[in-house]
Parts: sequence; structure tokens; C-alpha cells
Amino acid sequence: EQLLTLDLLADWLRRYAAIVDEHKTYLTELDSAIGDADHGANMARGTAAVLTHVDDATTIDALLKKAGMTLVSTVGGTSGPLYGTLLMKMGMATGSVVELSAEDFGKALRAGLEGLVARGKTELGDKTMVDALAPALDAYDAALADGSDLHDAVAAAAQAAAAGRDATTPMVAKKGRASYLGERSAGHQDPGATSSTYLFDALADVIGA
Ligand code: ADP
Ligand code: MG
Ligand code: MG
Repeated sequence: EQLLTLDLLADWLRRYAAIVDEHKTYLTELDSAIGDADHGANMARGTAAVLTHVDDATTIDALLKKAGMTLVSTVGGTSGPLYGTLLMKMGMATGSVVELSAEDFGKALRAGLEGLVARGKTELGDKTMVDALAPALDAYDAALADGSDLHDAVAAAAQAAAAGRDATTPMVAKKGRASYLGERSAGHQDPGATSSTYLFDALADVIGA
């Protein structure tokens, strides 16, 4: 059984930072259509700050909590506290360990998503990052329940995240700056759902899925 080790999860955050940096102009373009044109800059700043602490952690909970706190304090936009909550709640759920089973990682992700949803007062269909994250977690859990290994569960999660991200395009935003546009927010892909999908792309990359 492949485990999610401290080293692998540190690589996950490094890879996420790299993908965000590669796509920061694109993320900002998406945010310029329905927001204030800063999502790429916000996320690039936050994930770059996370990189400076990734090597320090000696347990998975410390790694994730520190990464979450760093995002809260450096991202600046609405997305910072939300991504920060996701990672902090994940860290609180894992306990002080250096490796996690695929199932326990899924439980931590679920705790993180619940924290984000509570903080964002949002639900599926509001045209936010939740529209990528929730289907990804559901696909991950379903794959494991069907007997898939970590590799296949992560591949399924990444696919579902991308489908969820794509499904935000026709949605009318109910939360965040995009909601100020009302019906005019339809026809544009949500920036946060796009950066959330990168979390699963990064995980798939480091796992080799
Ligand atoms: P800001 O809107 O403050 O400039 P960002 O541009 O960094 O922040 O992030 C915008 C993204 O945040 C949106 O695309 C959306 O996915 C997400 N978002 C906004 N409000 C919420 C919310 N209440 N719950 C979940 N996600 C949200
Ligand atoms: Mg913005
Ligand atoms: Mg902003």
C-alpha cells in the first residue's frame, strides 16, 4: 500500500507552488473577467511564502498547519483564508504523524473542505473553489471504496476536479466578487475552481498518477 509520507506531501506543496507560478497570468486573466484581476498574483505570493517553510516541518500536521497559516497571512484576497482553512483543518485532522494511509489522507481532505465551506458560507453550485474540490474528494473516496489504490484514486480526483472546474463556466456566482456581477458572471470559468484543480494536478504529479 502506497502511503502519503511527509516528504511526498512537502513535494505536493512544492509542485503546487510551481504550477500556480506557471499559471499566474492565466489565473489573473480569469479573475479580470469576473473579479479584480489579482487571483494569480495572490496565489503566487502565498505559495511562494509557503515554499520558504516546507523544509522545516518534521510532521505532516506541522507542515499543513504552517502552510495554511502562511496562506492566510500572505495571500491577501478572499481565497487566502479559504485555502488557509483547508490546509489548517487538514493538519488538525492528521495528528502528529510522518505518513498517512490513502484513507486517512481522504479524511483530512474532507475535514479541510468542511472547514472551507463553513468559513466561506458556500455550497456546491455557487461558482467557487468548492465546485472543483467537492467532486474531487467525492471521486477520491469513491475510488478507494471501490478498491482502487492511491494512484488511481488521485487520478480520479484530478479528473473530477477538472470536470467540476469546467462546470463553473455556465454558473451564476453566488459568493465573492463575481457575485456582484449577477447573471453577467455566467460564461466565465471561476478562478478559484481553477487554482483548486491545480492541487489535484500537483498531487497526481508527485504520485505519478
Ligand atoms: P478576491 O476575490 O478577494 O480578490 P481572489 O481573487 O484571490 O480573492 O479569489 C477569488 C476566488 O475565491 C473565487 O474565484 C472563488 O473561487 C473564491 N471564493 C470567493 N468567495 C468564496 C466563498 N465565500 N467561498 C468559497 N470560495 C470563494
Ligand atoms: Mg480577486
Ligand atoms: Mg482581490
